[in-house]
Amino acid sequence: MMPAAGVPRTGAPLAAHAEAAAGAAPYDVIRVRSDFPILQQKVHGKPLVYLDNAATSQKPRVVIEAISRYYETGNANIHRGVHYLSEHATEEHEAARKTVQQFLNARSPSEIIFVRGATEAINLVAQTYGRSRIGWGDEVLITGIEHHSNIVPWQMLCAEKGAALRVAPIDDNGDVLLDDFAALLGPRTKIAALTHVSNALGTVNPVRKMIEMAHQRNVPVLVDGAQAVPHLRVDMQNLGADFYVFSGHKVYGPTGIGVLYGKAELLDAMPPYQGGGDMILSVTFEKSTYNKIPYKFEAGTPDIAGAIGLGAALRYLSALGIERVAEHEHQLLEYATQSVSAIPELRVVGKAREKAGVLSFVLGSVHPHDIGTILDQDGIAIRTGHHCSQPVMRRFNIAATARASFALYNTREEIDALVRGIERVRRVFS
Ligand code: PMP
Repeated sequence: MMPAAGVPRTGAPLAAHAEAAAGAAPYDVIRVRSDFPILQQKVHGKPLVYLDNAATSQKPRVVIEAISRYYETGNANIHRGVHYLSEHATEEHEAARKTVQQFLNARSPSEIIFVRGATEAINLVAQTYGRSRIGWGDEVLITGIEHHSNIVPWQMLCAEKGAALRVAPIDDNGDVLLDDFAALLGPRTKIAALTHVSNALGTVNPVRKMIEMAHQRNVPVLVDGAQAVPHLRVDMQNLGADFYVFSGHKVYGPTGIGVLYGKAELLDAMPPYQGGGDMILSVTFEKSTYNKIPYKFEAGTPDIAGAIGLGAALRYLSALGIERVAEHEHQLLEYATQSVSAIPELRVVGKAREKAGVLSFVLGSVHPHDIGTILDQDGIAIRTGHHCSQPVMRRFNIAATARASFALYNTREEIDALVRGIERVRRVFS
């Protein structure tokens, strides 16, 4: 099978392809869909309408092929071998790191640490940076729209250290109240941890501004980019984040791989996370010395195939052009928001100034799980529940929402199918 047209191969610089995409033909979603084998199938006899992209995205053929090519022709453990396959696997793994660096516009590949996902990346920062710098009476500042994975690791740290978790509140639209955020940045704030895009509401936080506000008070910032990287251009040198995390599986890559970006000077000064092979320079029974970054934070055999798959995914996205993807998804979100607004008793939850990818809603007194189950019979996959954001649900006095979330391969026809499905739900419950 031929790789999707225009997808750069491992090692080619990404920037050139972004430029190529900028001058390319109009966005052709039908062609894009043909890159995703899973989308060609039927579910319950109906064409699959996959609108659960905030949970995980589907994988283009180039990603699936990169992973199987690695296992078919390139599998070996990295770093330690002098034989051909080991050296080749090491090169591919490092090429993937370089791809991530270019994708994020980080200064150096050594600022890119491979982890299992956004969750592990946040835990890493909490347990290394946090544990070594946060003490009794200190504060960690988060916002009211965080995913549990950007709440619980900080709560655990605060409980251990006698520190306090502070939360910047949100308004009824789902926007963070920036004056409150500023007021909560105090002399005891040791780190601020903010989501870039909310998975439950779709709110895009003005993170650049929030980072500036925090830096004015010498507070470092971790940004949870799990829901941003698939939808927006993220540029580390422009944003100025101290740490930025995301998961491969939400950005068309495999599960089990993710990224922690950290500024080199911070990573250098941090203690290691896990001990083991590869993260050391020398070991005696008395004492070990640690490897340089990024290897200091990558103990043990990593997910080599996962990193290669993630590299292929970011190349795919760059070849399409993230700005064109963002525009396509923005139009979808506007169309969907407008289309559902005509449905009686449907209330959109989350009306932030700027949103990406997510339409959360409730429908009268119908339980969101019932909405999800009925839509499933039509082949439509959405997510229902609290979306690992229970405090957000509490803020809106609801237990759950139904959430449709969009990706670069979704179409207006799929949104029409969603609307027809919701109307069917209403008929069932009327
Ligand atoms: N942050 C946000 C905003 C998310 O949406 C998610 C996944 N739903 C995570 C963090 C955690 O990602 P993972 O489970 O891949 O570690």
